[in-house]
Amino acid sequence: MSDNETVLSNEHTPLFANESGPIKEVHAFWLAGMSCDGCSIAAVGAKNPSVEQLIHQQIPGLPKIILHHPVLAVEAGHRFMEPYYKAVKGELGATYVVLYEGSVADEQIAKDTGGYFSAMGMDDLGDGKWRPYPTADMLDDLAPGAAAVIAVGTCASWGGVPAAVGNVTGSMGVMDFLGEDYRSALGLPVVNIPGCSPIGDNITETITAVLMFLAGVGPLPEFDELGRPAWMFNETVHRGCPRAGFYEEGVFAEEYGKPECLVELGCWGPVVQCNIARRGALGHNGGCMNVGGICIGCTMPGFPDAFAPFYKAPPGKFISGTASRMVGSFIRPLRKISQRKGNMTNRWLKTEHIPSGWGHVEAPGVVMKTIHYFYKKIQSSGTPYHPSGSNQQRKLQAKSRSAMSDAIQRSGKRAIEAEPVSSTAKELG
Ligand code: SF4
Ligand code: SF4
Repeated sequence: MSDNETVLSNEHTPLFANESGPIKEVHAFWLAGMSCDGCSIAAVGAKNPSVEQLIHQQIPGLPKIILHHPVLAVEAGHRFMEPYYKAVKGELGATYVVLYEGSVADEQIAKDTGGYFSAMGMDDLGDGKWRPYPTADMLDDLAPGAAAVIAVGTCASWGGVPAAVGNVTGSMGVMDFLGEDYRSALGLPVVNIPGCSPIGDNITETITAVLMFLAGVGPLPEFDELGRPAWMFNETVHRGCPRAGFYEEGVFAEEYGKPECLVELGCWGPVVQCNIARRGALGHNGGCMNVGGICIGCTMPGFPDAFAPFYKAPPGKFISGTASRMVGSFIRPLRKISQRKGNMTNRWLKTEHIPSGWGHVEAPGVVMKTIHYFYKKIQSSGTPYHPSGSNQQRKLQAKSRSAMSDAIQRSGKRAIEAEPVSSTAKELG
């Protein structure tokens, strides 16, 4: 028996898994555990694609998504909960995915005292007894039949703030809760979209990619060893940071509100895997260091404890910051010289005068001109392709002229050779 057949033998196997036709609709069950609802807010702010595009089937090939979300739903009470109960009992008769927000509390701790940590709907205990249905239990019940389980946010992915040192809830991520052997009805381990909150577009784009794969119209998206979408999380935030040039030149901000690198104010960007500096927080706008904030590592499994205390420079900054300062103190003046040259027109170089009405600009003196002269020599050495290499330019032009005349001669010869054939063709015509 193949692995795939093992998966399909699951008692909750959704209908589509046994059918060859394309999936037309997917139910998306949103569950909230120990959460602040920030991930929901981030998701509804997404633009590429937006939640509206997903639920109105505006993306070619993507099945229609029927979203069941406790905050966004129009229905309430039993009418809202009914599809959840049906899915739990294996009676939904349709494909579904589970989107879990917040960390999964150890509900046994709460049960021992007769309570619960986070619940939605009511669980029938028999004999007319009911109890609030913990979302952790519902996750356990829904996960085997789900086409995919997607952990939305750092709390759901790794545990996050509710699982920080000293918590009393025994909170953990979905991956910890379901175990490493967990596979969805279609054979997927838990997909993780970390971030506190994640970028909305990261959420909707991942859901889209997974659903396109499940619908058979897209490739399996690439995930890293922790189930993160690799194309979003395989680079550090530092590599895409607009302040990285300052870091490289060893220029660091000493207070907030300055444009330089924030590492000395506590930024962990050089080691944190996150795409917010490139993608922005919302509609390509905002995002931590783009708006002056440090990175506190909110996408990482170690968050928050591994990055606390926040606002204290990471220990590694001493070595890397000192190295950047040393290199930067040498590189910065050299770059200034090149920049000075780039800020001159050919005319100004000749006239040795910059006619700006905005302020006095000093023309390069003898020292600068000498440096520029040698700089230019080095810049143009080894290649004839530079504007001031007039001898080489002439040689190049002669070469291209002779290549052109060779080509003309060859095409003339071909035309003469082809003529008898065309005349014969004409005669025949
Ligand atoms: S602000 Fe942070 S992420 Fe940006 S360059 Fe400095 S250390 Fe790197
Ligand atoms: S840059 Fe850091 S703090 Fe900001 S979202 Fe990314 S991981 Fe979180």
